[in-house]
Amino acid sequence: MSDQVNFGDELVSPEEKTRRVGQVFSSVARRYDVMNDLMSGGMHRLWKDRFVNRVKPRPGEDILDMAGGTGDVAFRMARRGARVTVADINGDMLEVGKERAKQRGLSGLTWKVENAEKLSLADASFDAYTIVFGIRNVTDIPAALREAHRVLKRGGRFYCMEFSSSDWPGFSKLYDAWADKVIPRVGKAVADDEDSYRYLVQSIRRFPRPEAFKRMVADAGFVRAAAEPMLGGLVTIHSGWKI
Ligand code: SAM
Repeated sequence: MSDQVNFGDELVSPEEKTRRVGQVFSSVARRYDVMNDLMSGGMHRLWKDRFVNRVKPRPGEDILDMAGGTGDVAFRMARRGARVTVADINGDMLEVGKERAKQRGLSGLTWKVENAEKLSLADASFDAYTIVFGIRNVTDIPAALREAHRVLKRGGRFYCMEFSSSDWPGFSKLYDAWADKVIPRVGKAVADDEDSYRYLVQSIRRFPRPEAFKRMVADAGFVRAAAEPMLGGLVTIHSGWKI
């Protein structure tokens, strides 16, 4: 890992990035779900449905939902009968998730505070590993991908959904205006936190493009690494297999 890494557009030490990402999510945890709806116009629900359809969770499977936050993706997979472990570095996000699970009458989920870069979980213990809108916040992404590979069983599936910069000319302009002007202002109005939402926008721009991330997935040992763009390339589903 290099000495300096990006926290949004700023260069900081790796430790400082992890600390500041922690602050961002502690700050937004209580407003996270309502902000997701506002920022994406409700689209995140459709993206997550589509993502879970690609994962195809089966009853009795063990799935690790990494950077699972307040449980949105985990709930969808648990409803299909999978045994889901929701892991996140931020205890505040998990606490909100536990309350939401209780309100929905969902039991059987396991909640764990974990850093994706260094998991306390055993080798070859999961049938699938999912990470949605989480990996761009991780300081050492190659380390997190190696850990994903380690905890998956042979034949295990890796799925990641992340924002990507759109290549559609008209659409990307529209998106840039939305991201730069609207999202931080909504963040200020709803969550009284403009800086956290500015970081979230900057971190999307800094995330590797789909082809580059696909190579990182392959470098971690996954086979058949693939990148499937959705909605003009605004969001990409990445996948790979462990053999
Ligand atoms: N997956 C959820 C969703 O789609 O609603 C939450 C996504 S939220 C944008 C990103 C999450 O990544 C936060 O909950 C944050 O705490 C978590 N995160 C950031 N760095 C992490 C790390 N190194 N290990 C585990 N989780 C991390």
